Amino acid sequence: MLLGVHCSVSGGLEKAFTEAKKLDIDTFQIFTRNQRQWKAKPITKKEKESFTKAFSASKIKTAFSHASYLINLASDSDELWNKSVNAMIAEVERCEALGLAYTVVHPGAAKDKDENTAMETVVKALKQIIKATKGNNVIILLENTAGQGTTLGYNFQHLAKIIDMTESERTAACFDTCHAYAAGYDISNNHGFKKTFEEWNKLIGANNLKAIHLNDSKTQLGSRVDRHAHIGQGEIGNQAFKLILKSFPHIPKILETPKDGNMDEKNLEVLRTL
Ligand SMILES: [Zn+2]
Repeated sequence: MLLGVHCSVSGGLEKAFTEAKKLDIDTFQIFTRNQRQWKAKPITKKEKESFTKAFSASKIKTAFSHASYLINLASDSDELWNKSVNAMIAEVERCEALGLAYTVVHPGAAKDKDENTAMETVVKALKQIIKATKGNNVIILLENTAGQGTTLGYNFQHLAKIIDMTESERTAACFDTCHAYAAGYDISNNHGFKKTFEEWNKLIGANNLKAIHLNDSKTQLGSRVDRHAHIGQGEIGNQAFKLILKSFPHIPKILETPKDGNMDEKNLEVLRTL
C-alpha cells in the first residue's frame, strides 16, 4: 500500500527503521539533520553503513527526506539564497549516501518580489543544485503549499512552471492534502477530488507525482493557513483519504500529523480501515 509516517531519527538515523517496524509501515520520510539549524554534518561512513544495513533488513520499499524549513530558494537576499542552495546540495548528497529516493522542499517565499521573478529565482537555484550534484539519483520534490504569507506553491501552476523551467528529470512534485485544501482545492468530495487531480495531471503531470503527505486540515477550504489535523478529525474528512488510497496505491503516502502519544498508530489504523 506504500503507507508510512514521518519517522523520528532521534538517537541516530537508523532509528527510523525501528519506528517503521513497530508501526508496520513500508515507507517513511525523515529529516536527515536538525531541520531548524543551518549547520549539518555530512553523513559519516559509520552512519551510512548502519542505515544501509537497517534498510536492507527492513520491509521499507522507498524512503525519502524532507529538507530544512529554513531553506528559501526564492529569497531575494543573496546571503540567504546562497545558504539555501548550499543546504540543498548537502541534503541531496546526504540522501544519495543513505539511498533515499527523494528530498521534499517547499518552493520558497517571494517576500517583496513578484511571483514570476521569485519562481525564476527558484529555477536558478534548482539548476545550480542539480548541476552540483550531477550523477546523483536523488529527485527533488517540490511540495504544494497552503499559501501562507508570500509562499509560492499554493497554485499547481507554480509547481508546473518551476518544474518545466528547470528542465531536469531530477525535479518532480509532492502533494500535501492539507496544503491543497487550505489553498482552495476541495478534495473533500468525489467531484472536487476528481477536478483537483485533473488539474494536477494537466499542469504538473501524473508522472511527476512522486509522494503524498496525508494530513487533515484544522482550517477551512481556502483559508491559506497551514494547520495539520489527525485523519478524519479536520475539515477534509475521510472521503478524500479513501480516494487517495484507492487512486494512488503505488505512490508513497506519509502522515505528517501531530505526534501526540500513539496518534501515528491511530491515524494508520483509520487509513487502513478506509
Ligand atoms: Zn507536507
